[in-house]
Amino acid sequence: MANDTDVVFHPGQIVPASGIYRCDTQCGHTFESTDVKGHRFPPLPHDCPGEGWVLQQAAAHR
Ligand SMILES: [Zn+2]
Repeated sequence: MANDTDVVFHPGQIVPASGIYRCDTQCGHTFESTDVKGHRFPPLPHDCPGEGWVLQQAAAHR
């Protein structure tokens, strides 16, 4: 699989695929999306210096 961690999704963007996302910094915030229909990325936590979310772990497909 290609490494997609360079792709940053900004808050408000449509979630393209279910999985676990983390903020683009090292502070450890995560966001898990299990149903992406019409979902958008949430704002980053107030204390987070990052600019967006990156895919950490894609959901397993059945
Ligand atoms: Zn963060």
